[in-house]
Amino acid sequence: MTISCQSSFQNNIHGSKPEGCGSLFLVATPIGNLEDMTYRAVRTLQECDIIAAEDTRQTRKLLSHFEISPSMLFSYHEHNKAASGPELIRYIIEGKNLALVSDAGLPAISDPGADLVALAISHSIPVIPIPGANAALSALIASGLPTTTFTFSGFLPRERKDIRAVLSTLALAQGTLLFYESPHRVLKTLTHLQEAFGNRRVVLARELTKRYEEFVRGTIEECSAWLAEHPPLGEYVIVVEGESKEEADLAGSAWWRELSIEEHVAHYETSGSERKEAMKKAASDRGLSKRDVYNTLLIRE
Ligand code: SAM
Repeated sequence: MTISCQSSFQNNIHGSKPEGCGSLFLVATPIGNLEDMTYRAVRTLQECDIIAAEDTRQTRKLLSHFEISPSMLFSYHEHNKAASGPELIRYIIEGKNLALVSDAGLPAISDPGADLVALAISHSIPVIPIPGANAALSALIASGLPTTTFTFSGFLPRERKDIRAVLSTLALAQGTLLFYESPHRVLKTLTHLQEAFGNRRVVLARELTKRYEEFVRGTIEECSAWLAEHPPLGEYVIVVEGESKEEADLAGSAWWRELSIEEHVAHYETSGSERKEAMKKAASDRGLSKRDVYNTLLIRE
């Protein structure tokens, strides 16, 4: 079957589209409000030969709401992608048009869709995005934080040391930061964010496009206090203010960034400074008072 008005010219330097091959359509679905489904998404789902879904039960409900009866509904998720991916690619090469949907929003954002896209491209299969709702960008545009440069980081890892590693990299990222989070981890995640970034401004964007949509704006401390009073419910995007100009200026000259305060002071001592002078220099580099540095060294000595 050919889908009218949805042709896409795709140049693949490493190979050409196999004869008679179908296309992979990445179809956005709503993140809550069903009215956010686009006309094009409905039509594509109606016209494709196969729909591959993360959760087929969830997708069946969506399809039935829009009176779409798929010829074939396949499951494609994190735990079956290794087997299901190549099978879906085979169908497309045989001439079927396949629509990939996730549970909500854009497929391939924080779900295994990106693997199927990479596999399709490696077989020179045309990949066609059918855009629509996305939680991270919806949160960003309503956050009031800068939107010119941003980093989407999805879900943080589970292990504390992995979380720290990711956040220490992000501490240097320019612009606003975006995270996905579940309600039972959002408070803990704010604690990690505060440890890594200090008390920056954040926006908790909850239940976007749904009945209880809510934005909580404040510092990390204020938002944590809010969550302690209003237990988290529903789905969250955490939007975090980027590095401030002062932080960025400080980081620009931060040859000492990887050093502990002790190592930082020791560096100046070995370069010939008296201990007091070395503490003064380290304090000035870090934007701390001499007393802060002195107290830190005292605690650790
Ligand atoms: N593909 C989706 C997209 O395009 O936004 C994201 C899927 S990801 C598996 C699910 C996470 O997205 C949730 O845990 C939550 O952090 C975020 N999310 C999804 N829907 C949301 C909503 N209506 N409001 C706030 N966050 C949402």
